[in-house]
Amino acid sequence: METEFADIEENIKRIRGNLGEAALKSGRNPDDIRIMAVTKTVPFERVNFAASQGLTLLGENRVQEFLQKKEHYVKNAEIHFIGHLQSNKIKYIIDSVEMIESVDSVKLGEEISGRAGKIGKIMDILCEVNIGGEESKSGFSPEEITEAVCRLAELPGIRVRGFMTIPPPAADGGSLYFEKMQRIFEDTAAKKIPGTDIDTLSMGMSADYTEAVRFGSTLVRIGSGLFGARNYPV
Ligand SMILES: *Cc1c(COP(=O)(O)O)cnc(C)c1O
Repeated sequence: METEFADIEENIKRIRGNLGEAALKSGRNPDDIRIMAVTKTVPFERVNFAASQGLTLLGENRVQEFLQKKEHYVKNAEIHFIGHLQSNKIKYIIDSVEMIESVDSVKLGEEISGRAGKIGKIMDILCEVNIGGEESKSGFSPEEITEAVCRLAELPGIRVRGFMTIPPPAADGGSLYFEKMQRIFEDTAAKKIPGTDIDTLSMGMSADYTEAVRFGSTLVRIGSGLFGARNYPV
């Protein structure tokens, strides 16, 4: 067992070290930053090993893959959906995820709210922000985010908890984008809009999580840095 997962053990040690250092450097408490294990293409045995080391927050990209793996995950896993979500697939995940981080339209929020209402649940959501304004990426633009949050906040079956972003690769390590996100996050939280409880800023991946921590990230999403390079593109 120990040797089979030695790489993951090493990686966790390194990530925790880097994250702790980045947090302390910016006067933050490392305990305020959650590490998510991003599981796409990773066999459930490896995911469960990471969970046994304390990484029980799992990020799922694909509905089909999640449905195949979820029965095998350790029972104390907390699942967030982080991939592009089609309305017709909401019903498959609504009762088994604790948060949907990839809400990229008010329409999708409405559909989630409706589904959640049917099973008597209030679903926590994050608004995905396309902070780099990239054509290829989904998400709200910074200009439309305030109105979107206000509209989503009125829906009875969801609770807006904050923002998720995947910034474009940047020469400065992403600091400009992360700083913009931090401002959106803090400004929105300060508004205390009824129907929201803004406490989550999900940003930072394997290549840039220490930079994201400098700018207030409360949740870093790590895939390849934890489990190794993925065999095929996603
Ligand atoms: C794949 C993925 C990650 C993790 O990416 P790595 O670079 O492998 O750490 C984080 N967030 C989302 C939304 C992803 O799809």
